[in-house]
Amino acid sequence: MNLNPFFAPFGANWPAVRGFVRDLIWPDGAVCCACGKISDGTPLCPACRSALRSDGSLFRWEKEDLGGGLTAWWMTPHTGIARTLVLRLKHRAEACIAKELTALLQPLPRDFSFPEGTVVTWVAMPENRRRDRMIDHGRLLAEAVSEELSLPCRPLLVRRKTHDRNQARLGREARQKNLRSAFLPAVQMDFPVLLVDDVLTTGTTARRCAEALLSGGASSVTVLTMTRAMGGRQA
Ligand SMILES: [Zn+2]
Repeated sequence: MNLNPFFAPFGANWPAVRGFVRDLIWPDGAVCCACGKISDGTPLCPACRSALRSDGSLFRWEKEDLGGGLTAWWMTPHTGIARTLVLRLKHRAEACIAKELTALLQPLPRDFSFPEGTVVTWVAMPENRRRDRMIDHGRLLAEAVSEELSLPCRPLLVRRKTHDRNQARLGREARQKNLRSAFLPAVQMDFPVLLVDDVLTTGTTARRCAEALLSGGASSVTVLTMTRAMGGRQA
């Protein structure tokens, strides 16, 4: 039996087919993505949202020196509910999950401020991965951050096609080699940049992006991630 006419609207995009079927069975917001109980139409139920915010051992801002004058800020370790949200954002790329995470940004730490004219951007995703997932989760997150912090958001990086291998599957050395010169500035810039990403792991991606942004004229680069993976490779 030839099923091609049925799947023709999706082309060969199987993630789109899976997403279509999943959304029929499990509409967005029907259940909390952390505890699985019926939710109020948002990714987290009120109980999980307040649990995430009130857990002082998890929800804490930290500043980290990534070397070369680059500073990264992260909100919470890559565990528990925060990890669930980040993974869900990565794999389902829903704007409501990005907003759920960025709603936690406030209040910002006292010494986290933005120079005048700061522009928010994100880690450019390889073309093929963006096609597979249809929506760029990094962009969704950056847009939600820019809205929360009332800063403009622009695509400032491009990723070379020869560097499309999935970073998460590589070891540290291979990651660094693959990322060397993977990113280029998309435009000439003369303003400070806030680089947003979902999870900080080795910091290699952030460093390479910062190098590209500075080579494009950025006056400074600061990194902001939602979570921090405490050991080893990206989940
Ligand atoms: Zn819940």
